[in-house]
Amino acid sequence: MTATSVYVHFPWCLKKCPYCDFNSYGTARDDVPHDAYADAVLRELDARRAQLEGRTLVSIFVGGGTPSLWDPRALGRVLAGIEGAFGARVDDVEVTVECNPTSLDRARAAAMREAGVNRISIGVQSLDASRLKFLGRLHDAPMALSAVREARREITRVSADLMFGMPGQKAQDFEAELDRVLETGVDHVSAYALTIEPGTQFGELHKKGRLPVAPDDDYAETFLAAESMFASRGLEHYEVSNYARPGQEARHNLHYWRGGDYVGLGAGAVGCLGDGRGGARRWRDEALPAKYLESSGELARVESWEESLSAEDRVREALMLGLRTREGVDLDALEARTGVDARVGRERAIERRVGRGELVMEGARMRVPHASWLALDAIVTDLF
Ligand code: SF4
Repeated sequence: MTATSVYVHFPWCLKKCPYCDFNSYGTARDDVPHDAYADAVLRELDARRAQLEGRTLVSIFVGGGTPSLWDPRALGRVLAGIEGAFGARVDDVEVTVECNPTSLDRARAAAMREAGVNRISIGVQSLDASRLKFLGRLHDAPMALSAVREARREITRVSADLMFGMPGQKAQDFEAELDRVLETGVDHVSAYALTIEPGTQFGELHKKGRLPVAPDDDYAETFLAAESMFASRGLEHYEVSNYARPGQEARHNLHYWRGGDYVGLGAGAVGCLGDGRGGARRWRDEALPAKYLESSGELARVESWEESLSAEDRVREALMLGLRTREGVDLDALEARTGVDARVGRERAIERRVGRGELVMEGARMRVPHASWLALDAIVTDLF
């Protein structure tokens, strides 16, 4: 049985944020087609039934977009459908839903819990009024903190997303925001840098030189300072952008960073399943919700793109993702999965980076120490 996760994409938000390049579409709350979308996702699930044979369900992640806008009863139908579609599942399947403070209160959290959700991830992003305005968010700090507190009364495993690397935001500003978030009792924080993506409003402004950006040094300073900030508050840095109290790591994300198989369902969702010969097939679904809604039952129509990954491609991806984590990559397990020994052909690069203290080999496990995480891209490129 192959451990497998499921990612469900919900493509609507109340408003498109100016920095966002996710597959998301601003829409009025009343215009979300709750049941029609649930039906479409269930049709896709049904069409993928043969792909689920011999697989054990380990986690479900509903991302977006803003899935907390989804009527919990419609969401619950999808969750139940997924659990029922697998012949086997672990006892404690982790079921996470991404939430926005504008669509989350205690009643909504309770309804989600009843629908089968046992973990939520809340897009707080910032607790500073001017930065929230800069990011174009619809919530303010009191609304965000209240949403986190209220939700925690129903669902204990709560993660908050925070951003750093914004213009004028120094390490001490981030620390103050972090303390206010941790006071709510969250046990997991995802702390991301603001990145300017082409094709977004911010991307256009940046091209014209009209977007204030923080110097790279500010980002590096906050990233390095965050290490001790989180550690002194009991959260461990277990992936480049993620911190958790021991035992509260996101199991869905760990599965993904370990190179595990996942099924993608929903508009624009990506899935990647091993082919049993060391390689894999990756696909992306039709991104436009209207097209997804009418084609989801036929894989030939709903999949808009696919690629085959060779065993060596999978090894490179496993290194790229796994070296972002504290645990690193188990090279023996990777070889068992792909048939490729990642050490062969990389001896000199490994030796060079180990010599500089940027790579650590502990038996079959390869990892990058925290102190070198800012240089991760260069280290991984060296191993390609
Ligand atoms: S709420 Fe999230 S997914 Fe929606 S537009 Fe903003 S950043 Fe993108």
